[in-house]
Amino acid sequence: MFKQIYKSILSLIIGHLTVFKHAFKKRVTLEYPEVKPKLSDRFRGKHLFDIDKCKACGMCQKVCPANAITITKSENGIVKCYSIDYGKCIFCGNCAYYCSLGSVKMGNDFELATDDKNSLKLNFTKENK
Ligand code: SF4
Ligand code: SF4
Repeated sequence: MFKQIYKSILSLIIGHLTVFKHAFKKRVTLEYPEVKPKLSDRFRGKHLFDIDKCKACGMCQKVCPANAITITKSENGIVKCYSIDYGKCIFCGNCAYYCSLGSVKMGNDFELATDDKNSLKLNFTKENK
């Protein structure tokens, strides 16, 4: 009985000391979403696309391992709609790396969670640029 009480008090003291020890350490967590994380310059988030620069060469489509890019061209070869499916994209950055014109870039928006699968398809057109 006495031994049990002793053990309980000891574990209580150890528990409090552990909390006390960590209370003065530097925080490693953020109060997200109120506090946003500082992202690296090389972070790969939602794409940025400049439809006026794009020449519809199709290179980004060819190097996309997830087959996430669809380019719809008009009859004169100009991009009508550039679409990225975030249900497929793995954010590898190949499209941005291989686009010699800099039309597609990796942005830093990572808040893409949704319960609507259809909204994961992002369409860039002249109208919504
Ligand atoms: S985004 Fe770049 S690589 Fe892709 S079709 Fe346009 S110009 Fe070509
Ligand atoms: S980041 Fe990778 S997976 Fe996503 S669209 Fe670009 S090439 Fe495809």
